[in-house]
Formats: sequence, C-alpha cells, structure tokens
Amino acid sequence: MSLHPCDLCGETRTIEVPHCREYTGGQPIDICARCGFVYVRERRSAREIAETWSKELYGSGYTARWPAVKARHAYVAEFADASIGLAGKALCDIGAGEGQFLALVRATPYEARVFGIEPSEANGRLLAGLAIEHFTGTIEEYVATRQGGDPCFDVVTILWTLENCQSLRAMLATAHDILAGGRHVVVATGSRILVPYKKPLHYYLGKNPADTHAFRFSANTLRGALAVSGFETVEMNRFIDSDYLCAIGRWADRSKEIPWPGDDPEGVADFFARWHEDTRRFYVHT
Ligand SMILES: [Zn+2]
Repeated sequence: MSLHPCDLCGETRTIEVPHCREYTGGQPIDICARCGFVYVRERRSAREIAETWSKELYGSGYTARWPAVKARHAYVAEFADASIGLAGKALCDIGAGEGQFLALVRATPYEARVFGIEPSEANGRLLAGLAIEHFTGTIEEYVATRQGGDPCFDVVTILWTLENCQSLRAMLATAHDILAGGRHVVVATGSRILVPYKKPLHYYLGKNPADTHAFRFSANTLRGALAVSGFETVEMNRFIDSDYLCAIGRWADRSKEIPWPGDDPEGVADFFARWHEDTRRFYVHT
C-alpha cells in the first residue's frame, strides 16, 4: 500500500466522506480539503489492482452483455460521434474489456478503426475472437512496448475505467502520449457525484477493496482531471438527467495551464451526509 495526495491538486489534507466506513467494511474514502476531489488515499500497485479486477471482480458475474452496459456503450458512441465524428478515425479504447464498445464503433454507422488495451487475458481472447487488434497488459506495459514510429490515435476512449485505475494521472498521461496533437479523449463514468442520487448509498459504496474504485467525479473534478493532464474539456453531456458523466477533452500543449474550478469540500461532505440520511431512512441496508 502507498499513500497518495490528491491526484488533481497535490493537497494532502482531507476530510473523510461521512459514514463511508459503514458501507465499505471500514475502509476510508477521502475528500480533498482544497479542491473537493473524492479519492482513496491508500492504494496497492497498478498491477495488483488490475489483477483484482481481472481475477475476482470480473469473474463474479459482470459482463458487458448486460442490457445496461450495452445501453451506456450506445450512449457514448452516439455522444462521441455527434461531438467529434468517429468515421475513419483511429480509436483506442483503454480498458477495452470484452470488446463490445470497439465492435460497436467499428461497425456502421460509426466506422472507426479500432484498437484496444486490456489487462485481462480472458478478455484479450475475446478481443481476438472479434478480430480486434489489441494489446493484452496494463497501459504502463503498453507504453513500454511502443516504438518511436508507432502511429498515434485520433480518439482515445476511457469508459467506466478511469475510476477503477490506480493512477488517473498515469492513465490520462498515456492517453495524451498516444494521441495526435489536437485530438480527443473521451471519458465516461457512472461514479458521478453532486447530482441526484440514482441509487441508495450501499449500492454506490461497496465492500470491494476500496482501491479498485479510487476516484469519484463531479463535472468539475472530471474537468480538473482532464485539465491537469493536458486536456481542455470541449464537450460535457447532460449529466444531470443521465446516469452517466461523459466528457470530451481536446489535447493541448502540457506547458499551457488550463483552468478548472474544483468543488467546495464541505459541500461534497454534506452531499454524502444527505445521501446517507436518505438511504438510512428509505432503504433497507443489506
Ligand atoms: Zn485536490
């Protein structure tokens, strides 16, 4: 385990998410005392977290073939295509999973040229079965194997994945490195906060190892994660009445500072306190 400062602003002071340990089996989740970002401070290595996902959490019944997962992939494909256009673009999905999103955007009407990076070997076999060009391993391992002349991508997608990695900075830095200048990263997450609750708190804060879900984003802090990684947010979906938060960042020169607002830390703590109160009052806590 290593102890991490705020991934967005570097602050080490935090406020603990009120009541979180009642839902996580005693594991803390923190709110940055400066920018309001919600994150898990103690994390294992990127490899260990990826292995927990591959061997334990994916093995426990999750599949991209669930209707809800198909629906969110379709939503992102439509949103990205409408915003930046996908036809003919070289698109890389970081955390490609079972390849369902890539198979979708490869087909008509999107017709992107697709590539996947995926740590799970079982999923790698599924990608091969779909004839999707891919790399089996973590993003760090992928970057280490790249040659200087390797092609850059037009679009990098990180879908329901950024919240589950060990270092969002490393993941977004990889996206920046493999994108051609001025091109786009698409980030989507269901772990959105400062919006109407979509479910009781015990469905949102579970007992899985806390570092398998190290980040929870508001629109402001997702914008911040992109900004500190060299991406200017150019599109944001109507997250307030959707289950998803989806942002599109445009590659910018890293030497340029991109402003981002952050959240009020006390307000974020209050949001969780009220969510806890509603959960306690209206739902049986199982
Ligand atoms: Zn911060």
